[in-house]
Amino acid sequence: MGLNGMQMLSNETFSNQVCLPYSQILRLEKWGKEADEEICGFLVGEAKEGMLIIKECLIVKNRAPQCRSSRFLISKEEYMLAEKKATEDQKELLGIFHTHIDQLPIPSLLDVQNAFPGFYYLIYSVYKKNQSQFKTWELNPEIKLLYTLIY
Ligand SMILES: [Zn+2]
Repeated sequence: MGLNGMQMLSNETFSNQVCLPYSQILRLEKWGKEADEEICGFLVGEAKEGMLIIKECLIVKNRAPQCRSSRFLISKEEYMLAEKKATEDQKELLGIFHTHIDQLPIPSLLDVQNAFPGFYYLIYSVYKKNQSQFKTWELNPEIKLLYTLIY
């Protein structure tokens, strides 16, 4: 039991890691600070040895019909395009990013309700167009905060 338990624990920690390049943080920061609406898009990269390596954040239009400063919506067509592009680039569509304006990077009820299983969600918060903070989550079926390394 002892060894098994430890093994499980270390595997679990390992699969919770996300690597995000600093260059992409800078892009998210720029987009987020310039916008009055939530910015959204896709996380593209690879899942390797239990670790999630984000290579690129692809921005798409926020299609929410209203209240875009507090919600976002991505069209089905854009999902399909992103999936196609990721496959062509021999990468994987890992998840979705979006910004929160003057709100903590904690998923809203809507974020949780609309989450896809197996998808990862990066929430990038911008406060007063100045300070920023992010967190990466798995939302479906369980809500899980992931440890994110910057590289
Ligand atoms: Zn949100």
